[in-house]
Amino acid sequence: MRIVLLGPPGAGKGTQAKLMHERIGAPHISTGDLLRAAVAGHSELGVAAQGYMQRGELVPDPVVIGMIDERLQQNGANPSFMLDGFPRTVTQAEALQAFLDGRHIPLDHVVSLQVPRDELIRRLSGRRTCGQCGAMYHISSEPSRVPGVCDRCGGALLQRDDDREETIRARLEVYDRSTAPLAAFYDARGLLREIDGTGSAPQVLERIMARIDGRA
Ligand code: AMP
Repeated sequence: MRIVLLGPPGAGKGTQAKLMHERIGAPHISTGDLLRAAVAGHSELGVAAQGYMQRGELVPDPVVIGMIDERLQQNGANPSFMLDGFPRTVTQAEALQAFLDGRHIPLDHVVSLQVPRDELIRRLSGRRTCGQCGAMYHISSEPSRVPGVCDRCGGALLQRDDDREETIRARLEVYDRSTAPLAAFYDARGLLREIDGTGSAPQVLERIMARIDGRA
C-alpha cells in the first residue's frame, strides 16, 4: 500500500501514520523526522536544512527530493510506504509521481486530514515530545503522569523549536501557500480522500481505515 498523508501542521499526520503502520504494516516515512535527525547529527543535509526549519519555512525542493528519493530506494523495487510531510509542494508531488511512474507502481490513496485552524494552533502549542523515545503528549488533553517526564521511558519531554507561537503561524501560512494546492493536484488524479481529523486519534484512524477499505 502506498499512501500520502496530507494536512497542515498539527492535523495528526504523524500520529495517524504510526497507528496505520500498526494496522497495515507499510513503513512510516516522515520527512520532518528525517530532517530533524539530520540536524541532530550535524550532517551536511542537517546544516543545509536547520535555518529553514527554525523559521518554519520549507527546506528547498532539491534537498528534500534528494533525501526522499534515497530513502524510498532503500525499500526495494516495489516500495510500500506512508509518507508523512511529503510532498509539500507541487514540484515535490511531481517528483514523487516521476519516481513511481519510473517503477510502474501506483499511489493508492492521498489522505487529507481536515482540522479547524484554532484547533491546529491549540494542538501544536501544547505538543510535547519525548526526546528519548519520540512518544507524543499534549499539556492539557494528553498530559504525562509526571509533568515533563515521559510515561513510557522516563525521558525528558521537549517542545519542538518550531512549535512556538510565531513559528506556528509561519508554518500555517506556508501550508496555505505551498501545500494546500496539492489537494487539487491529487483530486484531479482521483486519489484524494478528505477525512475529518477532529476527535480522538482512534476515531480518526477508524474514519481513515473505513475510507481506505471502501466502507465509507
Ligand atoms: P514536520 O515535522 O512535517 O512538521 O516538518 C518540520 C519542518 O521540516 C517543516 O516546517 C519544514 O521546515 C521541514 N520539512 C519537512 N518536510 C518537508 C518537505 N516535504 N519539504 C520542505 N520542508 C520540509
